[in-house]
Amino acid sequence: MSSRIPEPLKALVEQLSRLPGLGPKSAMRVAMTLLKWPEAETRRLGRSIHDLRDNLHLCSRCGGLSSADPCAVCSDGTRGRDTLCLVTEWDSMLTLDEGGFYRGQYMILGGLLAPLERKDADSLDLDRLNSRLAEGEIEELILALGATVEAENTVSYIRQMVRMRFPQVRVTRLAQGIPLGAEVKYMDKETLRQSLQYRQDLA
Ligand SMILES: [Zn+2]
Repeated sequence: MSSRIPEPLKALVEQLSRLPGLGPKSAMRVAMTLLKWPEAETRRLGRSIHDLRDNLHLCSRCGGLSSADPCAVCSDGTRGRDTLCLVTEWDSMLTLDEGGFYRGQYMILGGLLAPLERKDADSLDLDRLNSRLAEGEIEELILALGATVEAENTVSYIRQMVRMRFPQVRVTRLAQGIPLGAEVKYMDKETLRQSLQYRQDLA
């Protein structure tokens, strides 16, 4: 970066450029935009960033983001306590819960097994899952981890782990297969393979 850039601006651009999707050039653009904003707005943004760590917590039960610990979902006494839905990221939990059709507990895994990216079992929040299952309340663990290769690997790993340590817990996964309104002839091979593998009995 040019030495003619004033130090405070240089420091800001360096920090901004560490954000996802921002290189040095776009970080400079963001910094220049902030300078053009009315002072009160720039300060308000700064305050929000400053307060972020004080006002936002990770829920100790599910690992989700919340302004209180435990979060509103975990402390909701009207929800079922015998099903636990495991999701990869916090926003998946939000999406699932917005539907309103699931009224059990959640837990956030924090990632998926990806051996090629050196993400092994230690990088996932399996301790939290293990201690939750050890409490003995959960009867069914629903794996809602998606349908990627990484998700498949993670599903088999967790299924294995739960079978060994908590054989009484039923492990299920979200149904895989043909989306609503789609035709078989337009499906990709993997979707068809899974649809066949997880086929259902007709009631
Ligand atoms: Zn929670």
